[in-house]
Amino acid sequence: MPIYEYKCERCNEEFEKLIYGDTSVKCPKCFTEEVTKKFSLFGMSGVEKQTSSGCASCSSGSCSSCK
Ligand SMILES: [Zn+2]
Repeated sequence: MPIYEYKCERCNEEFEKLIYGDTSVKCPKCFTEEVTKKFSLFGMSGVEKQTSSGCASCSSGSCSSCK
């Protein structure tokens, strides 16, 4: 269940929205569909795990204990 963060191109309102399938996203303030998707919160935490960890076999974030 992905949560996306959007920014409205018209009024610069920033908001988050859960997306189910083909839901069209509208600004909650001015109701335009001219919104920009910023990032997925779930996707970002996944990327963060991959880049902050030094090796693939340890999940602690630092490899000081597995070397
Ligand atoms: Zn707006």
